[in-house]
Amino acid sequence: ANKLGSKKERTLAMIKPDAVCKLGDILQMIYDANLIVTKAKMTKLTWREAADFYTEHQTKSFFNNLVQFMTSGPVVAMELLGDEAVSVWRRILGPTDSSTARKEASLSLRAQFGTDGTRNAGHGSDSLASAARELEFFFPSTAGQGPANTASYSDC
Ligand code: ADP
Ligand code: MG
Repeated sequence: ANKLGSKKERTLAMIKPDAVCKLGDILQMIYDANLIVTKAKMTKLTWREAADFYTEHQTKSFFNNLVQFMTSGPVVAMELLGDEAVSVWRRILGPTDSSTARKEASLSLRAQFGTDGTRNAGHGSDSLASAARELEFFFPSTAGQGPANTASYSDC
């Protein structure tokens, strides 16, 4: 066992350009969910970087609009660490389409800060495999150095 116990996961959370101004509120949601921010970076993605990040969607009709949006201003990328971080962060985000999110009872991040199906305030890795790839994308050479359960606050 370690200081944080087992079953800890790391995930890549990204605040999209439309919600960077809500970073304070979003950090509060992260804190309230018992996740900790172990890495963070604010950066403006190039077209190539955004297209690479979303390469799984390159054949979709919305791809160009998505890349246009993702390069319209800076984003905040964070590594989140905590129990079941992948699914916990996806739950905080809510449904992909912000309009759909606003129909739900609970006020998710996308319900509060997103606009529509593309401009939806946040991103979260959808699996541990995606998290590994996406953490390496934003934080190269520090992701994948070992199992998540070896982490502790002293690593920060
Ligand atoms: P999620 O971000 O919830 O994992 P996807 O991986 O399916 O959703 O899509 C990636 C991003 O592409 C979404 O967050 C959203 O910004 C955009 N997107 C997804 N589906 C659509 C759609 N039908 N129309 C417009 N934009 C979309
Ligand atoms: Mg996705």
